[in-house]
Amino acid sequence: MGTPWWARVLRCPGCGSSLRGLSAQPACSSTDCEYHTAGFPCVDDQLVLIDFASSIFDRTMYQADNGSVMPRDVSRRSLGSRLHALGFGRNPVAGANCQRFIDLLKQESRKPVVLVIGGATVGSGAEALYADDGIELIGTDVYASAHTTLVADAHSLPFEDGVFDGVWVQAVLEHVLEPATVVSEIHRVLRRNGVVYAETPFMQQVHERAYDFSRFTQSGHRWLFRRFSEIGAGPVGGPGVALLWSIRYFARALGAGDKLSRLISLPFFWLRFFDSLARGRAVSDAASGHYFLGRRAEQAIPPQAMPKYYERQGAKPVRQWSGKALDLLARRR
Ligand SMILES: [Zn+2]
Repeated sequence: MGTPWWARVLRCPGCGSSLRGLSAQPACSSTDCEYHTAGFPCVDDQLVLIDFASSIFDRTMYQADNGSVMPRDVSRRSLGSRLHALGFGRNPVAGANCQRFIDLLKQESRKPVVLVIGGATVGSGAEALYADDGIELIGTDVYASAHTTLVADAHSLPFEDGVFDGVWVQAVLEHVLEPATVVSEIHRVLRRNGVVYAETPFMQQVHERAYDFSRFTQSGHRWLFRRFSEIGAGPVGGPGVALLWSIRYFARALGAGDKLSRLISLPFFWLRFFDSLARGRAVSDAASGHYFLGRRAEQAIPPQAMPKYYERQGAKPVRQWSGKALDLLARRR
């Protein structure tokens, strides 16, 4: 392993000190830190910068193979992945938002640096991010793949403060024990006004077994990102997609296995076309998931803003609580 440019922005996930011995035996530089002597493992030539003392992931998981706790279909070519793509279609919301995310970043930087959290598998609709040579991408996940730069646990990102222009976190926050901790880490590693894109499930059943913990309404998702100003937010997959998920998991609960339950829901694929007819706030109330596109802000939105935030959902465009709106609200109180 050589020492690439991003090695300069790394820090110990345990204590925040700088790292040493990156090309040979990576360890923490602080003699007070347990990772000074224990060091950090490598898998598939990638650093594993995890604070094992506080992580759900154990050091032994990274001794044998890529560190994945379950079989993964990184290429999305397995039968299960193909059936899913056939029934659920691709994610047009993420595709459009990805382009918007890229445009925002390029308005401010010639070569923006983007951190992808949960990037071992390329997210549906995120392809443009990977195809763009004008973007410096740092991929992280809890296991190594061809799309990751290093392995990290997002509860304690192994990067210095303010080093990224953008953070992409798609279908990840439901899988972490403490979503709020992860979002505060995203805030920390983003530069001032840096851009975040998050997509998180709402009406979706458990889909990563022991590693699936939370769901968010659009309001709950907004509150999670309360220290960010909103550029856009809304449903990803409407009630039709949510109903497809329910049919599949209904069959699964009655004993159909993983593949058979996918097959059983397949003839109902047309339900998702009704999503284009669904209107207003009722879509967010029943959505399969929600996205949030925003900028790092230095103050949080006030709790009193949340009821109004709900009332405005479904009205287009969902765009509020800019710095100016916050000032106005502060003056009114
Ligand atoms: Zn340390």
